[in-house]
Amino acid sequence: MTISGKTMLAGVIGWPVSHSRSPALHNYWCARHGVDGAYVPLPVAPGALAAALKGLMAAGFRGVNVTIPHKEEAFRLVDALTAAAKRAGAVNTIRFEPDGTMRGDCTDGTGFVANLEAHDCAMSGQALVLGAGGAARAVIAALLDAGCDVLIANRTRDRAESLVAALGGGTVIDWDRWPDALARCTLLVNATSLGLAGHQDHDWTAPLREAPAGMTVADIVYVPLETPLLRAAKARGLKTVDGLGMLIQQARAGFAAWFGTWPDADAETRVLLLRGLNEGG
Ligand code: NDP
Repeated sequence: MTISGKTMLAGVIGWPVSHSRSPALHNYWCARHGVDGAYVPLPVAPGALAAALKGLMAAGFRGVNVTIPHKEEAFRLVDALTAAAKRAGAVNTIRFEPDGTMRGDCTDGTGFVANLEAHDCAMSGQALVLGAGGAARAVIAALLDAGCDVLIANRTRDRAESLVAALGGGTVIDWDRWPDALARCTLLVNATSLGLAGHQDHDWTAPLREAPAGMTVADIVYVPLETPLLRAAKARGLKTVDGLGMLIQQARAGFAAWFGTWPDADAETRVLLLRGLNEGG
């Protein structure tokens, strides 16, 4: 890759950011689609986001992704928000506009739904989402917008109640009782950090005995790729969708916004990311 004064620039702001697979993904897409672009990791400490955004815009960047811990502050800092960002209450993708303003989007929810659609999952019927954190909010908003009836169970019930009030949709059920609701669901989504490598896990085998045969089980955790939930769902003969597809799908809108090309989300893209994850990247 040759970088010149004409190369379009973008990057990912986070703290820490060295673990991010986004630079590998976007630079792969630049090479693959013949885009004269470059995407770099941008470590920005808490408190320095506003200054960093201003500086990157002045330096001619097209835009940035924003990740932990800056997504909510980015929401407050941008000049304009997409409907998805307003629903999610967070921004993960910013485009620097030619008029000097910043437009914030949240692509997590649309990426999640796009990934389900790519797996031929029907966006109808009742979905049960476990979790009420930042990622769960984006997922629940997108499922509601897609026409699903959404049940939400979260360890801390108040957090789920606040989320339902903010979104104006969804129904909260008790964390201890979620297996009882499975029989009437077509989709189960883990949007908690249960099962994430190094975090606490859960016994999924017993609750999944209540799942109907046609149910799809999706996990947004992608390290490990086959989470304990997905392993239990496969053992029960259920259709499963892992979290890597969401990661790829949520990145596509940013690439298109900055570089003007809609990138592929094919098997090769998946292999590239898997290689990095297996190497600990
Ligand atoms: P948050 O910290 O905002 O939320 C964490 C959620 O997990 C909360 O609902 C929390 O419940 C729940 N939780 C944590 N520990 C436990 C436990 N021991 N038992 C029950 N519930 C628990 O995190 P995010 O929403 O940002 O991220 C959640 C996961 O989603 C992460 O693992 C992340 O890797 C993944 N993710 C994947 C993406 C993808 O593209 N595939 C994109 C974004 C995130 P409580 O409210 O009670 O604390």
